Amino acid sequence: MTDHDVIIVGAGFGGMGAAITLKKQGFEDLLIIEREDDLGGTWHVNHYPGLAVDIASVTYSYSFEPNPYWKNWFARGPELKAYAEHVADKYDLRRHMEFGISAEGARWDEEAQHWVVTSSPVAGPGQGQPTIRTAKHLMTATGFLSQPRLPDIDGVDTFAGTVIHTAQWDDSVALEGKRIAVIGTGATAVQLIPQIAQLASALTVYQRTPIWVTPKNDFKIPGPVQTLFATQPWTQRVARAANSAWLEGMMVTAVLHYKQAKFLNAGAAALAKAHLRRQVHDPETRRKLTPDYSFGCKRPTFSNDYYPTFNADHVTLETTPIARITPSGIVTSDGQETPVDVLVLATGFNLWDTNFPAFEIIGREGRDLGKSWRQHGYHAFEGVTVPGFPNFISLNSPYSYSGLSYFMTIEVQMRHIERLFSELNKRDAETFEVSETADRAFLDQMLERMDDTVFLQGSCSTARSYYYTNEGDAVLLRPTSSGSARKAVEEFDIDEYAFG
Ligand code: NAP
Repeated sequence: MTDHDVIIVGAGFGGMGAAITLKKQGFEDLLIIEREDDLGGTWHVNHYPGLAVDIASVTYSYSFEPNPYWKNWFARGPELKAYAEHVADKYDLRRHMEFGISAEGARWDEEAQHWVVTSSPVAGPGQGQPTIRTAKHLMTATGFLSQPRLPDIDGVDTFAGTVIHTAQWDDSVALEGKRIAVIGTGATAVQLIPQIAQLASALTVYQRTPIWVTPKNDFKIPGPVQTLFATQPWTQRVARAANSAWLEGMMVTAVLHYKQAKFLNAGAAALAKAHLRRQVHDPETRRKLTPDYSFGCKRPTFSNDYYPTFNADHVTLETTPIARITPSGIVTSDGQETPVDVLVLATGFNLWDTNFPAFEIIGREGRDLGKSWRQHGYHAFEGVTVPGFPNFISLNSPYSYSGLSYFMTIEVQMRHIERLFSELNKRDAETFEVSETADRAFLDQMLERMDDTVFLQGSCSTARSYYYTNEGDAVLLRPTSSGSARKAVEEFDIDEYAFG
C-alpha cells in the first residue's frame, strides 16, 4: 500500500501540466507539494517591478488552454499568475496541492516498489519536522530557475542598507529618491532597471557581462482582437504558429543549428546592435553594452526601454569589477566607492549546485541522481527519465529544455508522460524503467547534435552562461528543432521501457 499513486513536486506550469496529463489517464490520487504558499511557480514567486514575459503570450501558454484575453502581446506578471490560477481551477488541481511544504529527499524502496518521499513545512508549527509519504510514482517539476543565487562578493553580508534579490522582492521597500545599485544585467535586470530608474535619485548598474537585447514588439491587444481570439479560436492558433515560427528562427535555429544557419545568428546579432545604436547616445556606453560573445551563448532577451535608460543623467553603467561591498556602498577594483541605500541583486539562479535535482533523489541500488550526474555526466532519456530510477519523471532534466518556450518543453514532456502511463495502464503494470541502451543512444544523439550549436561552433568563452554546467558542458537545451522534439516524442519506441 502507498499513500499516493503519484507525488509531484512543484505547482508551477510544469507540475500542473503533469497533473493534467495524469488526470486524463484516470489517476486521481495525486499529491502536489509546493514549498511556496501558492501555485504558479516562477509567476507566483517573482513580483519585481517590470515583471512580464519576454516570449509573447500566444506562445508562452498551454496550446490546449489558450487565453484570448491577454491584455498585451507580452503578458505582465500578474496576468500569468492569474492564468496559472485559472488552469488550476479549470482542471481541478487545487485539491491535490499542499503549500508551504518543501521536499527534502526521495528514495526508491526496491522491496516495496515505491518512492519514499520526505518533506517538511517551511514555516509555522512543525517547521522543519519531516513527514514521510510513499507514492508509486515521483515527478519533479521544480523549475530550472528556482534557487536564487546570491553573489559571493566580499562584504555583501555587511551592507547596512536594504538588500533585495529579485526573486525575493519586498514590495514594502520604498525606492523613491533612493541611491540604488543593481548587480547583474540578465533578462530580469533588463525588465527591472527601466522601472526603478524612474524612482531612484541615482542608479548604478554593475555589469559583468553584457546581454544581447533585441526589440520587443509589444502592444496592447485591442478588444476586437481579443473577441476574435475568443470567438474564432483558430485565429489565435494562427497567431501562435506565426510567432512560434519567428521565435524558432531566432532562438532555436540561429543558436542550435548555428553551423547550418550562421546567417540567422548574424542577423539576430545585427538586429540587436542596430537596436543599441538607435537607442543609446553615448558611444562609450554603447561599447560597454555590446556583447563580445556570439548571440545565443547565453539567453538573449527583448526590451525597448532597457537601453534608453542609460541615456539618463542619473543612471551609470559600471563595468569596473566590484572589489567589495561595504556597509554603505560598493567599491570597485579602481578604489572608487559609490554610496548605496538599496542594493538589488539581479544575480539570477543557481542551477548546477543546488538544482539538478533540487533535492536528494536516491534510486535503485542507492544511486544518487545528483552525484551520478555530476560525476558521470548529465543525461536523461528524451529529457524525462533516467535508468536506475524506476517510476520517476524528472521534468527539469538535461537536454529537456526547448529554446522556443518553456510551454513547448512542458507539452512535449506531457505527451511523453501520456504515452508512458497509457502503456502502463494497458499492460496493467506497476513499474516502468527506461533502458540503459535507449538512454545512451539519446545522449549520443544529443552530443552529436551539440556539434552544430553556437556552444561549440560559436565564440562563447566570455559569455558566463547558465546554460553551462560547472564542468563546462552546455547540457540544458535540447539541441534540436522544436519539430524534431515533437516528432521524437511521438516516435520513441515504448519498448525502450521495461514494465513490471
Ligand atoms: P541571469 O540571466 O543568470 O543573470 C544574472 C546576472 O547577474 C548576470 O548579468 C550575471 O553576470 C550577474 N551576476 C551574477 N553573479 C554576479 C557577481 N558575483 N558579480 C557580478 N555580477 C554577477 O539571471 P536572470 O536575469 O534572473 O534571468 C534568468 C532567466 O530567467 C533568464 O535567462 C530567462 O530565461 C528567465 N527570465 C525570463 C523572463 C521572461 O520574461 N520570460 C524574465 C526574466 C527572466 P554574468 O553574466 O557575468 O555571470
